[in-house]
Amino acid sequence: MIIDCHVHACADTPGHGLLSSRLRRSLTARFMRWRLGISASAGEPFERAAEARLLETIDGARPLDAAVVLAFDAVYEPEGRLDADNTHLYVSNDYVADLAARHPRVLFGASVHPYRKDALLELDRCVHRGAVLLKWLPIVQNFNPADDRCLPFYEALAHHRLPLLCHTGGERALPNLNRAYADPALLLPALRKGVTVIAAHCGTRDRLLATDFIPTFVRLARQHENLYGDTAALNLPTRSYAYDVILRDEVVRRKLVHGSDWPIIPIPTRRIGWRPAWRLLWREKNWMRRDLLTKQQLGFDDAYWHRGAALLRLPRPAVEVVPAPRG
Ligand SMILES: [Zn+2]
Repeated sequence: MIIDCHVHACADTPGHGLLSSRLRRSLTARFMRWRLGISASAGEPFERAAEARLLETIDGARPLDAAVVLAFDAVYEPEGRLDADNTHLYVSNDYVADLAARHPRVLFGASVHPYRKDALLELDRCVHRGAVLLKWLPIVQNFNPADDRCLPFYEALAHHRLPLLCHTGGERALPNLNRAYADPALLLPALRKGVTVIAAHCGTRDRLLATDFIPTFVRLARQHENLYGDTAALNLPTRSYAYDVILRDEVVRRKLVHGSDWPIIPIPTRRIGWRPAWRLLWREKNWMRRDLLTKQQLGFDDAYWHRGAALLRLPRPAVEVVPAPRG
């Protein structure tokens, strides 16, 4: 079973989620709306169009079998109070869980801020609603994964055997509240508690001169059996330098999990050859599939394509029967 473990959703109606006006007006958001052909910028028409585009993208991304669509929790203060002013993106767990219940190719990626007063209860609720992993973005959600407050949460994740997909490295699509939380080394307490951790983006920097956490990721992936890294957004020209490191290191190669970071646009890397890269860029309009095809051409092995499903303990589908040719 081939899954994409890192796909974003957007919701903008009460109970489902919200987008701040600052984010709505941002260049990145406008560019994505334009490229994805979504004309409405807010409310129900926007949410309906964004959902339709997400579902048709997953359906058209063969040989992908399913995608983990990620909820996105709000920002909370250290005392557990909701920080509405700093919350620019929110996608509720129920919205994504309902989507997964309605659509066989959607898997539920939950998101629970660990400083929430009801964090453990909400995590439990998500597990019962079928969550396959838990997503965090500490630099945006503003918490330190090494904080003692997270320890009970790690115990619960380990108990439920629910993998933690945690953003590492830089990121500019959403306003950052604390860039110091980008360091994969902050995930050590989770690793020590036995949580399966997937470091999103393998600690890559998002722009030149920013801090590069790939060396930290590589060191930790070699030391900790339960640390993995996803390949989300590595087809951005600013992050594709990662391929030169992670594909050459035999140990790290066995720790890579497929993810696209859709709707981030993938630009096929020159490492597959200029001509194939150019062809994919112009001919493959489905960004989730373009990301996947680029990685196929980069030579990611069979184990890579099935690792996500294994980590998320998903059943492999029955072998597809190819009809015999007629005549
Ligand atoms: Zn992402």
